[in-house]
Amino acid sequence: MVNCSAFGCKSRSEKKEAGISFHSFPKDVEKCKTWLDNMKLDKWEPTKFSRICSKHFEERYLYQSESESRIRLLNEAIPTIFPELPKHLQPKQTVKRARSIFPEPGPSTVQPEMQPQTTESPQKTKLRMKLLEVALRSKEKTRKIRVLTQSLKRYKKKVVSLKNIIQDLKRKKIVA
Ligand SMILES: [Zn+2]
Repeated sequence: MVNCSAFGCKSRSEKKEAGISFHSFPKDVEKCKTWLDNMKLDKWEPTKFSRICSKHFEERYLYQSESESRIRLLNEAIPTIFPELPKHLQPKQTVKRARSIFPEPGPSTVQPEMQPQTTESPQKTKLRMKLLEVALRSKEKTRKIRVLTQSLKRYKKKVVSLKNIIQDLKRKKIVA
């Protein structure tokens, strides 16, 4: 039977909670100190039997290889989630837990205007894509108009010079 060493945590190995794994403390002294700092257990020393459960790690620190069923911790894993600790003692999480697919509303989700936002409805995305398409098409048309105007100018010049030639010929004929 294994207990989780984290303050107030009720995880026990015999409960066999789904998705909860138990992990030993790092052998590296510095790393272990960081863990205990976060756990607010600086006066406590883990033994080789001490465990901390996966509830205290952000999901990005946990991985499960295809060949084995047990969940492992990444090397850089640091426990940051201690809901049982008083609020002022809780360590700051480096990254918000990415449990929901949609980002939480806030300044960080503000995106450039033309980028489709994940929070908007499919209809809105569709409309915006259409708007973008129309805008692009109108831009392309503007470019075409410019090209046509230029070639029209060239033709006008040609007409003028041809008129000049004709006049010249007429005059020569008269002169001749
Ligand atoms: Zn725990």
